[in-house]
Amino acid sequence: MNRMEERLRAAIAKDGPITLDQYMAVALTDQEDGYYTRGDGIGATGDFITAPEISQMFGELIGLWMADMWQRMGAPKETVIAELGPGRGTLMADALRAMRRAAPDLVQNASLRLVEASPVLRRMQTERLAEFSPGFVDDFDELPDQPMLLVANEFLDALPIRQLVKRGKGWAERAVGVGAEHLEFVEIDPPMPVPGGLPPMAEGEIMEISPSRLFVAGEVAEHVTAHGGAALFIDYGHGLTAPGDTLQAMKGHGFHSLLETPGEADITSHVDFAAAADMAEDLGATVHGPIGQRQFLLRLGIEARLAQLLKGATPDAAEGLTAGFRRLTDPQHMGHLFKVMCLSHPEIGTPTGYVAEEAYSTGP
Ligand code: SAH
Repeated sequence: MNRMEERLRAAIAKDGPITLDQYMAVALTDQEDGYYTRGDGIGATGDFITAPEISQMFGELIGLWMADMWQRMGAPKETVIAELGPGRGTLMADALRAMRRAAPDLVQNASLRLVEASPVLRRMQTERLAEFSPGFVDDFDELPDQPMLLVANEFLDALPIRQLVKRGKGWAERAVGVGAEHLEFVEIDPPMPVPGGLPPMAEGEIMEISPSRLFVAGEVAEHVTAHGGAALFIDYGHGLTAPGDTLQAMKGHGFHSLLETPGEADITSHVDFAAAADMAEDLGATVHGPIGQRQFLLRLGIEARLAQLLKGATPDAAEGLTAGFRRLTDPQHMGHLFKVMCLSHPEIGTPTGYVAEEAYSTGP
């Protein structure tokens, strides 16, 4: 039993089971023992790998997307370039390099703002992005009142969720209690109100909801609506709200128990894009997608970028580049499960990478 489990057992013994969002918040971002607080599990040698760590093309294309959106916004003099959960800083480093070639004035005059819970990753991001003088914000109120270009890759999936279980005519909530040997899942009466408008569900089915994700979607939507700009949320998840248990823990590139050795594995769940889209629309933003990562990257020209990089590549590098391309775009890998949703100021119209029919409210 690790130190976090000891602390959780003591807290649960005293005050009763804790809801999954409380458990996830502690396991991931506890100030001492949280998974992200403790260090860097991202990358080939860590617990899970993400798109920017697979290929430089991912961040470069996001950078070119930002440069293009900035031109379409009328090239405002001062802009906020923002990222939520930048991990090792790889995506933003690749993006800024590409952006600087495409739109030097944008990078020259922009303020780079990062949202990051982990002190270890903050240090890594500060070093990696030093030439762009990144600043950290905890709260969107701290951002300057300027147009914003934002990206969040695999950020929403790490924010805490609640799991509601259909029981009879009402609901129970999945929570973490103390068993003889280990922490264990229990069901309790929902301690917070169950939102209305959930789809019909059968006995025992689980609906995942995430007030934290909705809060973030709302904050971003409010900023781009009030000050201009656009944001990309990239994550695994579903386009329509549907029941299902998608909570998972990853360690060493494999699945791990959700309740054993808390704080030592990454815990995530699939993102309900429809819920986030509804929140963003309610707050005035225009929503496009989500569309598959494959489609998005192909439309941004990943094939042309690959061809360009292959020209100067050694055979080894060429193999890595093509393997990365396939992993990012293959429907069997990340091409289909990973989705890209854009929130933008209504006057921007259809954002780069989308077609008009993919506007959320008229979408499928
Ligand atoms: N975007 C990066 C990393 C994804 S992992 C990539 O694609 O490689 C999730 C990131 O979100 C990490 O940087 C993690 O520390 C950060 N994070 C997780 N929960 C957070 C929270 N509640 N607040 C701020 N940052 C958080």
